Amino acid sequence: MNATPRTALTIAGSDSGGGAGIQADLRTFFACGVHGMTAVTAVTVQNSLGVEGFTEIPADVVAAQIKAVAGDMGVDAAKTGMLATADIILEVSKTLDEADIGRDAHSPLVVDPVAASMHGDPLLREEALEAIRTELFPRATVVTPNLDEVRLLTGLEVTDRDSQRRAADALLEFGPRWVLVKGGHLYDDPECVDLLSDGVQYLELSGRRYETPHTHGGGDTFAAAITASLALALGVPDAVAEGKRFIERSVAESYPLGGGVGPVSPFW
Ligand code: PLP
Repeated sequence: MNATPRTALTIAGSDSGGGAGIQADLRTFFACGVHGMTAVTAVTVQNSLGVEGFTEIPADVVAAQIKAVAGDMGVDAAKTGMLATADIILEVSKTLDEADIGRDAHSPLVVDPVAASMHGDPLLREEALEAIRTELFPRATVVTPNLDEVRLLTGLEVTDRDSQRRAADALLEFGPRWVLVKGGHLYDDPECVDLLSDGVQYLELSGRRYETPHTHGGGDTFAAAITASLALALGVPDAVAEGKRFIERSVAESYPLGGGVGPVSPFW
């Protein structure tokens, strides 16, 4: 018999194509050596060409999944991805408090503020953005927006390192312990530079940019790798640096699949 492993919980949507969402999170947790658990928030109908639509899971069922695993197996770290509706966000926030998960709680929480797919298909009902800002951000150990999500959440356009820093400051106002403003979508930058800040430290993490169109699930994989490192008891800067190495390698190992955008791969 083996020892009990560390555990990580993803609260996110299902991607029928297997590239993003809970499928990406579970693969990443497995690759990082932690036991993955899931609270499914929505079922998307999608493939490499885009998201055709989604159906959300009732908020009380999402909460019950979190309670079931937290009360029995324990959660060493958790992440949120696609949350679909304001109802689900409110219920998840309350349940995370009860389960002692969050920035001032026993177990750390990574909030990936997923709003739309890379094809521009919505993954969040419109009224839910405000709930992410007001309910989830103040509970987050680290939030991991990309530049599109930064624009939606703050109205700020990030075009260079200075504006990336201003965006980090604006996001910290919503109350997370740390923010990671991902710079991967600054395509004229030869490197992918992400900025991690808690308002005191401003840490630039730079990584190689790979010329691949196949980056589906990249954001989920990055946030899941950070969550796994937090579950393994690393501090936030070390966990993010570890996650950065992990996503860089996963993008390098991405593969074509279907007629559109293929997934990044956490296996190598
Ligand atoms: N589907 C689900 C369930 C997701 O959680 C996400 C992203 O978080 C996506 C699709 C979109 O992924 P991408 O933007 O990499 O296509």
